[in-house]
Amino acid sequence: MKKSILLITFLYAVGLTLSLWLYHHKPLLMEDVGQLLPTKIKEVHGATSEAKLQGWVNEAIKNNEKISVAGMQHSQGGHTYYPNSIMIDMKKYNNILDYSPHEKSITVQSGATWEDIQAKINPDHLAIQVMQSQNIFTVGGSLSVNAHGRDIRFGSLIDTVESFRLLTPQGTIINVSRTENSNLFPLVIGGYGLFGIILDVTLHLTDDELYQIRSRAINYQDYPNYFINEVHQNKDIRMHIARLSTAPDTLLQEMFVTDYQLVENQANLVEYAKLERDSLAAPQKFMLGLSRHSDWGKNLLWETQNKFYVSQDGNYITRNNAMRGDSKFMEYDNPTKTEILQEYFVPIDEFTSYLDDLRAVLKKEELNLLNITVRYVNEDEEAVLSYAKEDMFALVLLINQGKSKRDIEKTEKVIQEMIDVTLEHDGSYYLPYYSYPTQDQMDEAYPRNKEFFAQKKQFDPNEVFMNLFYKEYSQ
Ligand SMILES: Cc1cc2nc3c(=O)[nH]c(=O)nc-3n(C[C@H](O)[C@H](O)[C@H](O)COP(=O)(O)OP(=O)(O)OC[C@H]3O[C@@H](n4cnc5c(N)ncnc54)[C@H](O)[C@@H]3O)c2cc1C
Repeated sequence: MKKSILLITFLYAVGLTLSLWLYHHKPLLMEDVGQLLPTKIKEVHGATSEAKLQGWVNEAIKNNEKISVAGMQHSQGGHTYYPNSIMIDMKKYNNILDYSPHEKSITVQSGATWEDIQAKINPDHLAIQVMQSQNIFTVGGSLSVNAHGRDIRFGSLIDTVESFRLLTPQGTIINVSRTENSNLFPLVIGGYGLFGIILDVTLHLTDDELYQIRSRAINYQDYPNYFINEVHQNKDIRMHIARLSTAPDTLLQEMFVTDYQLVENQANLVEYAKLERDSLAAPQKFMLGLSRHSDWGKNLLWETQNKFYVSQDGNYITRNNAMRGDSKFMEYDNPTKTEILQEYFVPIDEFTSYLDDLRAVLKKEELNLLNITVRYVNEDEEAVLSYAKEDMFALVLLINQGKSKRDIEKTEKVIQEMIDVTLEHDGSYYLPYYSYPTQDQMDEAYPRNKEFFAQKKQFDPNEVFMNLFYKEYSQ
């Protein structure tokens, strides 16, 4: 009797210990907004202090574990995680450390978002020089992809960075700028978190300005000349974005341009300076929903968008409010489908012939293409993984696709074809998205990628900082 009680107690204790162990060591299923790469990781640490971050890196070195770094996880190719690794979530590491309106400069922890910065600097009528079209992203994530947006006067984000501090794969903290540890500056910016953790960043700011919106419809064949003569050469046009039709009736032919023109009387800025929410998210979301399911919906979306953009012509908006879109209209919840982005860069003089070739691919293949915006990126070859070899137009494509293996293969085929066409036109593609491009395409678009990965291995020989992007393309 006594023996059996002992046995039961023993078994109970073993069971309890085992379940506690399993609970604490349960692998976490991680995915980014792309939702195509669910991966089991070991655990997530939420960053709050420099000391903790340094402690985690030192512990990982000691235990031979892998670390990945995450901001908002809007990259879509597993750039923020790795199997069985520790993911460091930087979102709460978001204080503003120093701000000098007089010097037009700000230093923030890398988990701060553009929205956090805008809230701080807007009262002083200052603005961010370069950021994405939306303000939801972290500064660390944006630096690590070397983002670009609607501004046409500055280059890529790297242009606006004064310096940053980096927590290295050896657990040390160093300053990085164009004069200190300068070799790391163009590797970490656009470096996809592979050289360590960016702790804090000093950025140059610019003035907030009042713009008048100029919107008009244009044919794609007239667009390059329009851009060169009426946008680029007009020093008062500060920002620009265009939209290309994905409607079957006018596919890649009709366009819509939106220019932000500096208003002569800047005294009126104060009247418009209050930061506004993106009020268009709900109607845009509804229209996007219709366009997912039918050609009819796509034609309707394009017509409605046109009417909407015409109605914006002549409106006034501040730079800060123009740089404040959120991505709520793109939120999409479907168990079997997801929405992904692609971005292709082409030289300005290739634009028209490129679109003709791209259209031929899209007419032949099956791809649920929902939206294309066009931006302009200045030549900027400072980052080792730079995408703008010359002044380029950037086409951002929103694609609806299934999550099954078969759907992924189907999309892969079309995307690889589109990238081939892009490369034939001396173009390039953007790296924060799903790993559809082949290694050959990567080699052609990013001729310095071998140097980039060699530097990574030299700087981080034990491969402490890892992610799925590195796994895919570093061989
Ligand atoms: C809806 C949408 C719109 C977009 N619009 C644009 C656009 O207009 N222009 C543009 O250029 N891009 C655009 N992108 C791409 C976007 O800029 C990148 O995906 C960007 O990285 C997102 O920031 P994040 O905070 O989500 O970074 P994450 O996706 O979390 O991280 C991106 C990379 O940065 C690394 N990283 C993050 N924080 C740190 C840190 N503190 N230290 C070191 N490494 C770090 C990660 O390891 C990862 O490799 C868009 C993406 C989406 C989904």
